[in-house]
Amino acid sequence: MLELAKYTKELSKLFFSSENILLVCHINPDGDAIGSQLALYHYLKEKNRNVEMISPNYLQEFLKWMDGADLINIFIRNRERCKKLIESADLIVMLDFNQSNRLGEAENHVIASGARKVIIDHHLGLENYVDLAISDPSKCSTAELVHQLINIMNGVPFLHKGYAEAIYVGIITDTGNFEHGTYTGNTFRIVADLVETGIEKEKIINRIYNNFSSDRMQLLGFALNKRMVIIPEYKTAYISLSRNDLNTYNHVKGDTEGFVNLPLSIKRIVFSALFIEKDGFIKLSFRSKGNFPVNEFASKYFSGGGHLNASGGEYADTLENTIAYFLHALKENAWRFDDNKL
Ligand code: 5GP
Ligand code: MN
Repeated sequence: MLELAKYTKELSKLFFSSENILLVCHINPDGDAIGSQLALYHYLKEKNRNVEMISPNYLQEFLKWMDGADLINIFIRNRERCKKLIESADLIVMLDFNQSNRLGEAENHVIASGARKVIIDHHLGLENYVDLAISDPSKCSTAELVHQLINIMNGVPFLHKGYAEAIYVGIITDTGNFEHGTYTGNTFRIVADLVETGIEKEKIINRIYNNFSSDRMQLLGFALNKRMVIIPEYKTAYISLSRNDLNTYNHVKGDTEGFVNLPLSIKRIVFSALFIEKDGFIKLSFRSKGNFPVNEFASKYFSGGGHLNASGGEYADTLENTIAYFLHALKENAWRFDDNKL
């Protein structure tokens, strides 16, 4: 665990000596990426800092209600404006990722910028290309880390409704509503404080988890019924969805969120993978129970990364070839599924 007070002095100095602060999250931003970005935004705005936000690509529907989400500039929608924001920033804060390729099309522009750069993150595998990296993989979410940093910098709890909601969203989405991830007693103490500020827990849960289209529910039924393959000898299950499958159910961004978790509720399954066909490549998501390190698996075979039990990556080939390659990778890891090791 990091001793945060060591970092807050420098972070505060950077915040209060910079003219134009830019907050950037990772591509395909999840609740923690957007939650930590918006939370920091609300704090800096309240301190009268000049602050802008960029996401490399679009937000998922279930996050668009969040206070300030409409102020996030989408790089692939408004490239010129985003390039200008990157050029004019003198401080760039990257939230919830540590590898620059998670910036998508914005990567080269951010790297080339002369701005001072900060990473605030909780993933393993930090790349050292920034001026200040505050990286704590013991935190369940970047939102938890942001919250603790802000509490220290602010001296007293920072009370703001949109802020409290953003931290809460980051924590619940990265722990699957306190089901997985590295949440601790401290996480619950933070949540207790947030609840006491009057956040509407039920409203937030409904907006995040109970807000799907009927098409999405049917896609889920189809995925489990027709596209899930179980490999008992490797205690593994995977789901693969082609472009055509997705089109049949009028897929919109975010619809497959959560699918990868479901096979883990099958008895004896400890490793789950989801393959989604994109244009020219396959996006992969991995989840595990216990000590199978899916971050290492994603990084070794699929140019990806993430956490011990939740990771992702990509593979530039057809769905069929990607699955074949995955099965080959699984075979190479057969020893990990030995009962004695689980
Ligand atoms: P998800 O499966 O929900 O998209 O991602 C799970 C975790 O893996 C997240 O923490 C995310 O940041 C990480 N992750 C997903 N895709 C990639 C990827 O392509 N590269 C890296 N480095 N991490 C990824
Ligand atoms: Mn996160």
